[in-house]
Amino acid sequence: MTNNTIEVLLTSERKEKPEDSTLQFGKVFTDHMFVMEYTTEKGWHDAKIQPYQPISLDPSCMVFHYGQTVFEGLKAYRTKEDKIVLFRPEKNFERLNLSNERLCIPHFDVEQALEGLKKLVEIDKDWVPHSKGTSLYIRPFIIATEPFLGVHASESYKFIIIMSPVGAYYKGGINPVKIAVENEYVRAVKGGTGTAKTGGNYSASLKAQETANASGCSQVLWLDGVEKKYIEEVGAMNVFFKINGEVVTPMLNGSILHGVTRASVIELLKHWNIPVSERRVSIAEIFEAYDNGQLDEAWGTGTAAVISPIGSLVWEGRTININDNEIGELSQKIYDTITGIQTCELEDPFNWVQEVKINSSVEAK
Ligand SMILES: *Cc1c(COP(=O)(O)O)cnc(C)c1O
Repeated sequence: MTNNTIEVLLTSERKEKPEDSTLQFGKVFTDHMFVMEYTTEKGWHDAKIQPYQPISLDPSCMVFHYGQTVFEGLKAYRTKEDKIVLFRPEKNFERLNLSNERLCIPHFDVEQALEGLKKLVEIDKDWVPHSKGTSLYIRPFIIATEPFLGVHASESYKFIIIMSPVGAYYKGGINPVKIAVENEYVRAVKGGTGTAKTGGNYSASLKAQETANASGCSQVLWLDGVEKKYIEEVGAMNVFFKINGEVVTPMLNGSILHGVTRASVIELLKHWNIPVSERRVSIAEIFEAYDNGQLDEAWGTGTAAVISPIGSLVWEGRTININDNEIGELSQKIYDTITGIQTCELEDPFNWVQEVKINSSVEAK
């Protein structure tokens, strides 16, 4: 039922692009967007690239009331040779379909979405910034559009991809952050929606985030939703600890989001023959390792920052400083390697990077 052709409608007015040095995160958007529709009769159809513009929706659309929505986040990078590449984009679309599964949203064709994304990046290629550390952030998302007040799976959806040029995450060197261990609120529970990238998870996390900010911390460390003993994630990132030479990260237990960066870091560590294990990690174990002088490093992983070192952890009134509040040697090496692969400055032994072919006729149209 899927019609695989992607229609292209180019804008007549290209917007002015901001200077690389003024770029923030997610504030300005490129000239075009990808849109595809779903109805129960037609399946996914009407895939097109069109000028970036507001969308008009009936106020009764189900997404506004029951939060049936999923999203992704990935990036396009400009290399020294002026090529444009994507980092493991198929992983993001595969994960979007897994999120769809959980939210009762119909699957889409990953190949078609990849083709649409590459065409979109090609058309807006001049929006991929040039300076070191900058990139084009890509946000695919799906919303339930059936105009109906009542709880069931929507019968219609919109799949949209928008893109935003973003500045370097670390402008003046990598800064380790202060993290509050969250003892009251939880992010997710087994059987809930923690493994899906769905809007409600993030609105539900705001309260803890605000409380942490008020106490001078930049993010929270989430514990499991049942015993509040085991570590799950840090903010909207996965988390790693280096204890006595071994790297540990919480195992995927049904409430943790399976990050693409997380998977890449694990593969990289295995490639380097550095011991890494995915298992349950309790917060008590981390403080104990610190007391024994064995907590070497801690860091979060995610697409936006790649690596975000944890400088200090606050738990039950106690604050510990990890690696003297400085980025650790391994964290730095992982950061340099992944960002090096992403910009083709380093070999890519894993075939993680996909080039976006630029066809000069796109511009001429
Ligand atoms: C997106 C996200 C991550 C990181 O995933 P990446 O694919 O590495 O960007 C981790 N945790 C949560 C809750 C997330 O939403």
